[in-house]
Amino acid sequence: MHELSIATSIVEAVSEAASAYPGARVKQVRLRVGALASVIEDSLQFCWELATEGSPLAGATLVINKLPVIVHCDACGVDSEIGGVQSFRCPRCGELAADLRQGRELEIESIELEEPEPKQPESGAPEPMEEHI
Ligand SMILES: [Zn+2]
Repeated sequence: MHELSIATSIVEAVSEAASAYPGARVKQVRLRVGALASVIEDSLQFCWELATEGSPLAGATLVINKLPVIVHCDACGVDSEIGGVQSFRCPRCGELAADLRQGRELEIESIELEEPEPKQPESGAPEPMEEHI
């Protein structure tokens, strides 16, 4: 399953990045996914659940930021967003625009960490008064 291997590699990369912050919990991972990355969002979300289960990322949400396909047209000299991937033609002039500027992305945009709750007092914090009575 294509999406499962993607999810697994994201979990590995995020775990590695998060290991620099001991005790912090990964709350959310944002992905940038181009329309041509051939990723099925529902499938990736499902695989995310599987891949994070039992890992330090368990419970973290996956946010998929979908990017439209953008091509550059030499005739017009502009970058245009195209609706479908059936034809790479400039929406302005209809010329073939095979110069892909965006659409193949599959990358981690950001990772949101939750700082661990402070469990121990910094140093020599006074005992609660009740214990001295
Ligand atoms: Zn054009």
